[in-house]
Amino acid sequence: MNKELLIAVYSSENFRKRGHRLIDQLADHLDRSINEKSAKVIDWNPPENEYEYWKYFLKNGKEANLFPEILKRTVHVHHPKYMGHQVAPTAPITALSGMISSLMNNGMAVYEMGMAPSAIERVVTEILCEKVGYTTNSRGFLTSGGTLANLTALLSARKAKLKDDIWNNGHNDALGIMVSEEAHYCVARAAKIMGLGEQGIIKVPVTKNFAMNTSLLEEQMEKATKKGINVFAIVGSAPSTATGIYDDLEAISHFSKKHDLWFHVDGAHGGAAIFSPKYRYTVKGIEKADSVVIDGHKMMMMPTITTALLFKDGNNSHATFNQKADYLLERSDGEDWYNLAKRTFECTKTMMGIHWFTMLKTYGEGVFDEYVTTLYDLGHQFEEIIKNDPQFELAVKPMSNIVCFRYIDTSMSTSSLNKINLKIRKLLLEEGEFYIVQTKLRGRYYLRTTVMNPFTTVEHLMQLLVKAKSIGQGCVF
Ligand SMILES: *Cc1c(COP(=O)(O)O)cnc(C)c1O
Repeated sequence: MNKELLIAVYSSENFRKRGHRLIDQLADHLDRSINEKSAKVIDWNPPENEYEYWKYFLKNGKEANLFPEILKRTVHVHHPKYMGHQVAPTAPITALSGMISSLMNNGMAVYEMGMAPSAIERVVTEILCEKVGYTTNSRGFLTSGGTLANLTALLSARKAKLKDDIWNNGHNDALGIMVSEEAHYCVARAAKIMGLGEQGIIKVPVTKNFAMNTSLLEEQMEKATKKGINVFAIVGSAPSTATGIYDDLEAISHFSKKHDLWFHVDGAHGGAAIFSPKYRYTVKGIEKADSVVIDGHKMMMMPTITTALLFKDGNNSHATFNQKADYLLERSDGEDWYNLAKRTFECTKTMMGIHWFTMLKTYGEGVFDEYVTTLYDLGHQFEEIIKNDPQFELAVKPMSNIVCFRYIDTSMSTSSLNKINLKIRKLLLEEGEFYIVQTKLRGRYYLRTTVMNPFTTVEHLMQLLVKAKSIGQGCVF
């Protein structure tokens, strides 16, 4: 076989040349985004057109345009007018650590396949456990996303709390978990994957402020028990995704102790508040959780996808996928912490720990405090601006950098206002100067913003309102 192509693929000189060019292109892109030299956050193109474009490009496009076109045809998360989904504008240095991971490709399922990243993962998760307020008996690992981490935590919960060996024998009993009706959909999905069915997801109603109504927990538990459902876990959201409202973790912890439930905290978005002395109160009680999820790619400036799953009792972090009887740290000669695939859902994963370590080594823990605190501050500043404008209404007083609001006009019906707010969001997307999303709460459509960029200013937020208002006032229904 002729190896001409393979020789080109692995040419180190090609890599060097292209790499330098790409870094220049990315640095220029960063400059244009962060410093607003480009007017648009997104150059909107409908899916079918985009598909046609790339189909055509594969045959006819100029190769030199490939990377620049990808940059052009994606949403620019580093632009201060990006305020949409909860994905972080990556710290550029983690794009470099990402490159190491991509090139070295150490899959970390076993220690030899990634000595440094396996050890680094331990160092990083130890720091996270300490920040949560856990003990030296606590352990954690990194895994591919909050969705997978929540599923893993619930599997651990089932293993720890139920006497039957369900992992090996399956189950016929009706099992259940309790979770706020506002929780991220992945919690319900995890429960369904585990065979709990719809009836096994006990959705606790929320208060008028969208937090789990913990005064209903006893009653909900009683109802479930009467139906013969064996509830083994309860999940607190820190915060829930749509509104950014934190559940009362102290109250949930108290309830979980009383009923011997596993207490899991889904801190995919806001678990990072453990780094902010100012906003630490939002996660009060997190140290009492049996497990905690924190996404690195949301409030910790890292590239997708890297998530920490932390366990108060480190034994549980080993037991989840263990075929044999319970794992006991104190009984095993030298803990097998370094063969990570025994504990994670994945076999191979990326060298994700190096992003966290690079941030800690280069900038120190303080960088996470600056990031979270700056963004939550901006959430509250935005709250004030919205409150002072009679043409807008908040869905709820924000507790984080997630702010939901809508355009209002007292002379209009809910249904007209719904149409107007949907139209505002649609036109904003098509114009591309701002990027925000939408959410439906209690039958009303809201504009949903997540301030993710620390260089977003009050002026940007005011400009967004001016724009939204002018669209709203121009709507006729
Ligand atoms: C984003 C989010 C998830 C899902 O995490 P991924 O990393 O996107 O899989 C789960 N729970 C909450 C509260 C979230 O905000």
